[in-house]
Amino acid sequence: MRTTPRAYETIGTVVPEMLNGSCECGAIRYRVADEFLYASNCHCSRCRAATGSAFKPFAGIEREKLELLSGEDALLINGEDDLNDTRCAACGSLLYSVVRDGEYVHVALGSLVDEPSMRPTKHIFVGSKAPWFEITDDLPQFDEHATA
Ligand SMILES: [Zn+2]
Ligand SMILES: [Zn+2]
Repeated sequence: MRTTPRAYETIGTVVPEMLNGSCECGAIRYRVADEFLYASNCHCSRCRAATGSAFKPFAGIEREKLELLSGEDALLINGEDDLNDTRCAACGSLLYSVVRDGEYVHVALGSLVDEPSMRPTKHIFVGSKAPWFEITDDLPQFDEHATA
């Protein structure tokens, strides 16, 4: 049986599969290569407040591998060009954060429409996690940044 390949080759270069992402209202659409370098669940107080949730599942990738498809006018950028949270100004959804001197983005995995190959591999900043939330999986936990 033929299955869909994760990537295909054209004249020697591997073209990555692209993942679609969107805010809640659909004003902003983006796509990102399915080539995340790392993925974590962050329990720090800022990520909890930014998402209104117990933790933020996110995955990191080089900034140039994320491309806006529509809604550039509707971006709400909270911070600087090289360090920010990028949201939809219309519905407020957190889409991604620009980090590490602007060279990487941390994609909020909840904004992905498609399923990434990489899943969060650890819990970070567990030292400041919400007391009302209990981690019930077996992923490694780190008080702050992962040291490994
Ligand atoms: Zn929106
Ligand atoms: Zn965080």
